[in-house]
Amino acid sequence: MRLVLCPYIIRPMNAEIISIGTELLLGHIVNTNTAFISQKLAEIGIDVYHQSVVGDNPKRIAESINKAASRSDIIITTGGLGPTVDDVTIETIASLLHKKLILNKTILKDLKDYFKLRRIKVPQESMRQAYIPEGIKWIRNKVGSAPALIADYKGKVIICLPGPPRELNRLVEDDIIPYVKKISGAPWVIRSRTIKIVGGAESQVNGKVKDLLALKPPTTVGIYAKLGEVELKIMTKDKSAVHAARSIARVENKIRARLKDQIFGCDDETIEGSVARLLTGKRMTIAVAESCTGGLVSDRLTDVPGSSKYFIMGLAAYSNDIKVNLLGVSPAAIQKYGAVSKIVAFQMAKGARFLACTDIGIGITGLAGPGGGTRSKPVGLVYIALVSGKKSIVKECRFSGSRKEIKFQASQAVLDLVRRQL
Ligand code: ATP
Ligand code: MG
Repeated sequence: MRLVLCPYIIRPMNAEIISIGTELLLGHIVNTNTAFISQKLAEIGIDVYHQSVVGDNPKRIAESINKAASRSDIIITTGGLGPTVDDVTIETIASLLHKKLILNKTILKDLKDYFKLRRIKVPQESMRQAYIPEGIKWIRNKVGSAPALIADYKGKVIICLPGPPRELNRLVEDDIIPYVKKISGAPWVIRSRTIKIVGGAESQVNGKVKDLLALKPPTTVGIYAKLGEVELKIMTKDKSAVHAARSIARVENKIRARLKDQIFGCDDETIEGSVARLLTGKRMTIAVAESCTGGLVSDRLTDVPGSSKYFIMGLAAYSNDIKVNLLGVSPAAIQKYGAVSKIVAFQMAKGARFLACTDIGIGITGLAGPGGGTRSKPVGLVYIALVSGKKSIVKECRFSGSRKEIKFQASQAVLDLVRRQL
């Protein structure tokens, strides 16, 4: 491997990624390479200001590289290093650099070894991969045949990586990130914290933290809406780990003061995990009777290791007969108010608690759709109930989306209800 330091850039560097491949433009494959590289660069504090996709066309690839060289310090291309005629990245780089393609004996030997291991002679077209622009730096590809290339171009650095994710990921982690770290000379510490919020729409959360979302680097906050959940991600970049931690804490405290108990956790925490922690801490037990969620709440509660400490019973009480015969829901209530009603949710929760002798009983009934909705009871209408020794709560919720999305949002609302009660 030949790597040299590029001494000419002293300010924080930024990077740009160009993905090459007509199949990406056609939407035949998803551009996971760009996401991977961006994440890895972010971890070492290199900002990515532009990403683009261009087909396997030398003229357009050259245009993209020139554009990138006019505005970014590091240009990373992916794809088109292979042996087939549509792989034109190397030729394009050679022509931009005004360099001839020269046979590299070490790469040729690597190629021969690569194919020997697979017990095949180097295919004629693969020989192309041993020709690289004269004098250019290259990095061995430990899991594939095409090496990565590094060139200086108009005072900028171009790094060409192969397209297959397995090869690209390995090169990025083992070689490219250490290389970029070295040339950028910025020992940045990157810290982030994701604050997880439930029980509010993105717009509602947005309204409460508008000023924080407008923060400028080095400390920034981003908002991400997920199904039934909103995340606020605080990111900071500093030369000192202590200062970075302080910057994160300052913003986190502000968020906590504004969103209070809507926050259920941070980073990898899940809402079921936070319910589990609370139930275990209070030595309390729970039983769940689910209609429209079909067992999803039980599934999520039992995803947490050690769930046998608090989870006693999960019953998918789908039919009215089961609701009546096992849970003691009154047939008259179903007759009068329907299976999707406050009273039935309450009686299901009460029945579950009684049947399993738990501290908390949960009942869920609703319409997950897509059919079966009426004007008074539309699809997405869900009643959730919690019964404990001290209190009973029944909530009416209205969700929208696909059947799966409604089920998930209902499970989210139930877990949030339990969390708040605890
Ligand atoms: P090969 O030697 O396999 O031809 P290559 O460097 O020429 O490698 P491409 O031909 O552009 O790379 O892509 C090879 C395969 O890698 C694609 O068919 C696709 O499966 C995958 N790939 C390419 N680019 C991307 C990308 N940006 N994101 C995810 N996968 C990709
Ligand atoms: Mg190819």
